Amino acid sequence: MIRNGTVVDVETYCKDRKRPTDKENLRYILEVGNECPMCGKIITDFSADKHKLYEVAHIYPNSPTEKEMSVLSDVEVLGENSESFENKIALCRDCHKEYDEHKTIEKYNSMLNLKKKLLQNSKAQTALSHNVVEKELLDVVQQISSLSTNSDSISEMEPLSYTVMSVKAKIPSNNLLRTDVEGLVSNYFLYLKDLFKSLDEISFETIAASFKHSYCQALKEQLNQEEIFESLIDWVKSKTRCSRTVARILVSYFIQNCDVYGKISR
Ligand SMILES: [Zn+2]
Repeated sequence: MIRNGTVVDVETYCKDRKRPTDKENLRYILEVGNECPMCGKIITDFSADKHKLYEVAHIYPNSPTEKEMSVLSDVEVLGENSESFENKIALCRDCHKEYDEHKTIEKYNSMLNLKKKLLQNSKAQTALSHNVVEKELLDVVQQISSLSTNSDSISEMEPLSYTVMSVKAKIPSNNLLRTDVEGLVSNYFLYLKDLFKSLDEISFETIAASFKHSYCQALKEQLNQEEIFESLIDWVKSKTRCSRTVARILVSYFIQNCDVYGKISR
């Protein structure tokens, strides 16, 4: 099997079974958002006495059978050894049982890819959370949020009449994401443009720069456009505690108008 691009043998990779500590258990739960990543069932029921509804599964088995060793002889493995965080994943009991029985290379690889994706997402989230957002963004978010109760300013809002060219060019291959963003942009573009115009230059630059920084972080984690869109929304939400709707409006504006999804020029 292959670890980090080099061949490693089963004896070196497989270590004695290690039970996860409480802290490690929590990390596994958080990684999957308290849902079994295979079937979506809740894995910790905080309201019940028997709250633990998951098991921490080995992706590459801890003590593989002869058959498993031959089926999985050429696969990629994650982590330093079988007991590393990277080689384990929280699953509900049913999905764990299903995964452990009759292991095939397809089953193994799809579990491996799932774990890779989870590791990538949490790396991106950690990177984004270090991007401190300025007070200016909070103010903007508050103003957009006030639209939800202010019917006067909503009725005064003019939709964009021309096609949003730059969104088309920036999201060429994901039609659903593109129409989603185009819709948000055409409804709110002029309003946001005025809103940003009313800010001083430095405030706008500060907000634009923090979007650019977050975008670059997400890019570094090799997320696709939809994942970048979602991670920027999560970032705005976590920094400003605004609603998802408001965050989507704001992120779409920056896709249309700024560096998000565009080429980052030197
Ligand atoms: Zn499950």
